Amino acid sequence: MKILIIGGVAGGATAATRLRRLSEENEVIIFEKGEYVSFANCGLPYYISGTIENRDSLLLQTPESLNERYRLDVRVFSEVVKIDVANKQVHVRHLKTNEEYIESYDKLLLSPGAEPIRPPFEGINSDKIFTLRNVPDVDKIVEKSLAAKSFVVVGGGFIGLEVAENLIEAGKQVKIIELSNQVMAPVDYDIASFVHEKSAEKGLELLLEVGVQKFQDHGEQIEVFLNNGTSIMTDAVVLAIGVKPETQLAKDAGLTIGATGGILVNKFLQTSQPDIYAVGDAIEVEHYIHKQKVLIPLAWPANRQGRIVADNIVKGNQYQYSGSLGSSILKFFELSIASTGLNEKLLKRNNIPYKTAIVTRGHHAGYYPGAKNMVLKLIFDDNGKIFGAQAVGEKGIDKRIDVIATAIKGNLSVYDLQEIEITYAPPYNSAKDVVNIAGYTAGNMLDDALKMINYDVMEDYIKENNAVLLDVRTASEFAKGHIQGAMNIPVDDLRDNFSSLDKSRIYVVYCQVGLRGYLAYKILENNGFNVVNLNGGYHIWSKVKPTVLP
Ligand SMILES: Cc1cc2nc3c(=O)[nH]c(=O)nc-3n(C[C@H](O)[C@H](O)[C@H](O)COP(=O)(O)OP(=O)(O)OC[C@H]3O[C@@H](n4cnc5c(N)ncnc54)[C@H](O)[C@@H]3O)c2cc1C
Repeated sequence: MKILIIGGVAGGATAATRLRRLSEENEVIIFEKGEYVSFANCGLPYYISGTIENRDSLLLQTPESLNERYRLDVRVFSEVVKIDVANKQVHVRHLKTNEEYIESYDKLLLSPGAEPIRPPFEGINSDKIFTLRNVPDVDKIVEKSLAAKSFVVVGGGFIGLEVAENLIEAGKQVKIIELSNQVMAPVDYDIASFVHEKSAEKGLELLLEVGVQKFQDHGEQIEVFLNNGTSIMTDAVVLAIGVKPETQLAKDAGLTIGATGGILVNKFLQTSQPDIYAVGDAIEVEHYIHKQKVLIPLAWPANRQGRIVADNIVKGNQYQYSGSLGSSILKFFELSIASTGLNEKLLKRNNIPYKTAIVTRGHHAGYYPGAKNMVLKLIFDDNGKIFGAQAVGEKGIDKRIDVIATAIKGNLSVYDLQEIEITYAPPYNSAKDVVNIAGYTAGNMLDDALKMINYDVMEDYIKENNAVLLDVRTASEFAKGHIQGAMNIPVDDLRDNFSSLDKSRIYVVYCQVGLRGYLAYKILENNGFNVVNLNGGYHIWSKVKPTVLP
């Protein structure tokens, strides 16, 4: 069988090596229009700061190494310019010689990825505006950064934040322009607020809820005009406002494109032409949870899909792609921010009822040196089905989100999270892991043993119900900052103060992170009071609400 692959990086290279491991018989040709195959796209931002020092370490394989080990025919600078579906052929142009030729196929795999979005703003073609997709792109940014002192990064998604972080590490002045009210779209505002705070701490200026209108060159500098009537003069701009699937070739070949703009594939990852498969950033996938079609341009799905397609080509269509969860993680200075599944914003938009449990705990036992707090937010429905999770902190974030992603794919419920028997010794964990605690909290909420209220509706709730806001932290914590209008009775003094409380009122209790709030909740409830607990406590409130008293 003759198998052609368009695109030689994540999905394409994975499929090709798997094809060879499955059979020595097939002829496999990879066409890659760039100079490099199988390079580390995800590592590119770290080369800007020198964290990854050696450029060669970004190049995971070469055409020669892939040929030597896997007997793959890898053709770089080779752009497939046409797919002739009727004759099962592709037209290839060599980008150095401009020579064109035809190759026939039995099976064809498209893994052309996605390209950075470049809106048709006035001035967009300035040589001071960069995007980041491949090794030549990062070379240009690094070269520019030798002379440039200031950068504007447009877009506060993963790539924008990684680029901004690495430019700061390289000693540059950096501003991020972001249209939304938060960075990092996959997480909700409360979790993103930790990134906002970290940006300020690191001198990275975040301009939220503002968009770019146009650019204008001024000699060595470029002016970025914003839609709030202001402008910024800077040495260089990195555009990171998202990617769009590379579908032109597929469109021209008459393959069906889905409603999201990605190539439509079935469960076996076949396009509308059965002998043509497609994977990676170029395709639309079914979301694992809500089953809607989505674009999820991440490396795990591309690699998984590449392997499935290789298996399906060699063994006949036996393997189905089960959908994407969009599990992702970002390092942002000392912080890690990760998420899996659906977030609150999306659930609200789709009118899907949900609950959240926000817990804050040390990443390992507090008495063992070096414990770092983490916030874990679990999102679930009334039956305990897990919709998603988000976490932020300095350590152990990947582990917790990976456990919950595994739980979701295993169809576990929030009650099952209580059952996950974790490894424990003080340097690694607590005997009750934060994932277990999130399961307990969610279980308590579902069993009506705990009523929670979220920060975004608390003020209205208090007004509507004439409720009392009760801070159960110590007097000194209260003095350092509290929510406006709160009264303070430390949790240990509660039982002695029942006479000053009114059983006809509702008490909204909070502490720093939720644990003492929960204990206060139970003390009050067990003594006949009507109580609600603030989800995430003062820790979350102080990040998301500007109305904190000094
Ligand atoms: C800077 C950066 C950082 C990232 N960091 C992360 C991360 O930390 N975690 C994560 O999960 N994901 C990350 N990603 C995303 C991840 O790299 C992609 O999801 C993944 O590479 C997609 O694989 P793919 O095979 O679909 O496309 P790609 O890996 O992009 O490969 C597509 C290749 O096809 C080639 N091509 C396109 N059209 C043609 C044609 N007509 N003929 C020949 N060749 C063609 C392109 O030149 C390209 O090299 C990052 C991406 C970038 C750019």
